[in-house]
Amino acid sequence: MTDRTDVLGVGFDSVTMEEALERAMTLMEEPGAKWMVTPNPEIVWTCRENEKLKKAVEGASLVLPDGIGVVYGAKILGRPLKAKVGGADFAAKLLGIMGQKGKKVFLLGSKPGVAEAAADKMRELYPGLIVCGVNDGYFKDSGPVVEKINEAAPDFLMVCLGAPKQEEWMLDNAPALNVRLMAGLGGTLDVFAGTAKRAPQWMLRLNLEWLYRLCKQPSRIGRMMKLPAFLLAVIAQRLRKG
Ligand code: UDP
Repeated sequence: MTDRTDVLGVGFDSVTMEEALERAMTLMEEPGAKWMVTPNPEIVWTCRENEKLKKAVEGASLVLPDGIGVVYGAKILGRPLKAKVGGADFAAKLLGIMGQKGKKVFLLGSKPGVAEAAADKMRELYPGLIVCGVNDGYFKDSGPVVEKINEAAPDFLMVCLGAPKQEEWMLDNAPALNVRLMAGLGGTLDVFAGTAKRAPQWMLRLNLEWLYRLCKQPSRIGRMMKLPAFLLAVIAQRLRKG
């Protein structure tokens, strides 16, 4: 994908939710294992010190801005993105469309039992969707997992191992995988399974999902300190530009 919008060295696709869904469905029709990522400010920041993560993000067929911080960052830099397209919202909508077309999804990640519960919920929410396999995210050797996925031959593989593990996993395993499209989607299976809750609507409307997650899980504070660093770097870059 060319013409990406640069935010601190990470190129984002400036697309609406509808455009993102359309692109994902098109990618699913094309042969070969492709992947997509949804970086938030923390991932953008980590790309500065993690070459492999940067390579995984650069090699993605679709790079969506997950997190209002990226959208603000792009705006401050004078290159506004069309929309925030969060991973969890995107996945829910994509699975709905896949259901209408009878497509197959494989769920990889989270603690044992979570992907099964997420699969039950998805079957209930999206009639027509085929959940063709699940595997938890705490495996040592990727070989047998890749084999299991290849036997199921999904159109879409949800890779929910947390960042940067999931992005690195997709980069490493894409050549061996018999899938059409895969996406790094963090804690999305926990949300479907009900083991994690999304922020209430009013917080989502105010773009405060990050604050909700911090309140629920204060141990995230270390990771979240990358957010002010990200914003300071964006402002510094803007000031240099004049
Ligand atoms: N996880 C996993 N394998 C690991 C580490 C984490 O499957 O080795 C899962 C974890 O159980 C959780 C998800 O990855 O379901 C990470 O969720 P989080 O909300 O932290 O995602 P992030 O904010 O990193 O995208």
